[in-house]
Formats: sequence, structure tokens, C-alpha cells
Amino acid sequence: MSRKKIVAGNWKMNQNLFEGKQLVTDILKRTAALELPENLEVVIAPPFTQLELAATQLKEVPGHFLAAQNCHQEASGAYTGEVSAGMLKSVGVAYVILGHSERRQYFGEDEALLSKKTDAALSQGLKVIFCVGEPLEIRDAGTQNDLVRRQIEGALFHLDAGQFGNIVIAYEPVWAIGTGRTATAAQAQDMHAYIRSLIAARYGTEVADLTPILYGGSAKPSNAPELFACPDVDGGLIGGASLNADDFEGIIKAAF
Ligand code: PEP
Repeated sequence: MSRKKIVAGNWKMNQNLFEGKQLVTDILKRTAALELPENLEVVIAPPFTQLELAATQLKEVPGHFLAAQNCHQEASGAYTGEVSAGMLKSVGVAYVILGHSERRQYFGEDEALLSKKTDAALSQGLKVIFCVGEPLEIRDAGTQNDLVRRQIEGALFHLDAGQFGNIVIAYEPVWAIGTGRTATAAQAQDMHAYIRSLIAARYGTEVADLTPILYGGSAKPSNAPELFACPDVDGGLIGGASLNADDFEGIIKAAF
């Protein structure tokens, strides 16, 4: 079995229902004209309000999957404003993004909470795109590996090997998200290889070899080919550039 490649578009809090419908239509028009390799998945993560409609648009389109950008850790109850993993599953969502740096920064999400959210998502049969990455001061201090290790150990390493098979890691250096500043291919490869070594030490090389590790942070059609050519970079989690169908197509092609 070979490792999957994934190009996932994180729309964040962008696109109303009509704009989002058009964007999915535009993306599908472009990907239909490509011959997507069998091991490549295109994932679209619109806001909650778009999920049900996007699910109908993506239904039965091979190689295309829907992701949510968050879920609550409880299954149901008095949590006004929240959405559970089971609700996401019921509208056709396949993946949920957890641990995004914006959730950590603006909503105080930490490893203890993220480990519960991960359990909730997996228990409903969702796969998790789990984001890790260091802020600039940590990169400048040279301690990025320690931080990323703690993020992964703290939220994920209670899982058993079977559960870990439903985890995708996204390495997103915080200093590269939405800043136009991208990690170099060497910086990305170093961190991805380190993450894979952590997974191998915990779950064995077979699980580590099968775990997709995505790069995220100002990826665009111009820099994606070099990043995706790295042996441990298995595609990307794309923010800004995923809102433009031409750019998203360019990045998808870089993952062929
Ligand atoms: C992201 O938010 O996951 C991301 C990678 O954003 P951008 O591509 O805009 O840097």
C-alpha cells in the first residue's frame, strides 16, 4: 500500500453560500479536466454553513472529499453554537481539521482539549487533519522540534495504531500562515522527516510510512512543486490560495 497524497483547501471564515457553491463548481470543472492520480485526494474545507451543499456537489466525484474546520469534543448537549462530530458525519463530511494555529491562538485550544476532539472525531468515523507548527520565536530559538513533538504526543499518542491510521498531520509553521513567507523545502523536509520519525518510534515504521504529512503556510502554485517534491511532504493544507480555483488547481497539479 502506498501513502496517500492530499491537497486540502481550508477556506477559513470565507465565502457565503452562493460564493462557495460557485467556488466548488469552479474547482470541480478544473479537476474534471485533470487525470487525478489514484493516490491523490482533493479535500475541501468550507465553513459549516456550506457543508451540506458542498456534500451534494462532491457526492460521487471520485477522489474528492469534504472536511470541516472544527468540531466539538462532546457528542451532543447544551453547548450553544457548537457542532459535533456526529453532525458533521451526518452531512457527508469525511475529515475534520483540528489544532489549526488560529484555533489555538484565538480559541485557546490546547493538547488536552485537542486530544478529546480527536477522540470525538474518530469515534464518529471521521478522519482528522491534525495541525502542528511553531511560532516565529520558537523557530528563532531553534526549539521547533520540541514544540511539535509535544503537540503530537499530547494530543495524539494516546491513540492505538489502528486509530492512528485515520490521522493526517499538517505541519504549518505559524510564521508562514497567511504571511506570504513560506518554509524552504529543506525546512519543511527536515520537520516532516522528524514528525515521521516520532510516529515510527511510537507506532512502528509501517504506520509512519503510511501517514500523510502535509505542508501548510503560504503555499501557492509557484512554490508547491519544490515543497511537494520533498520525500516526506505528501501534499498541502492550503489557506488563501484555495479560494482561487486557478491557484488551487495549480497546487493540485504540483502533487501529481
Ligand atoms: C492555513 O490556514 O492552513 C494556511 C496554510 O493558510 P495560508 O495558505 O493562507 O498560509
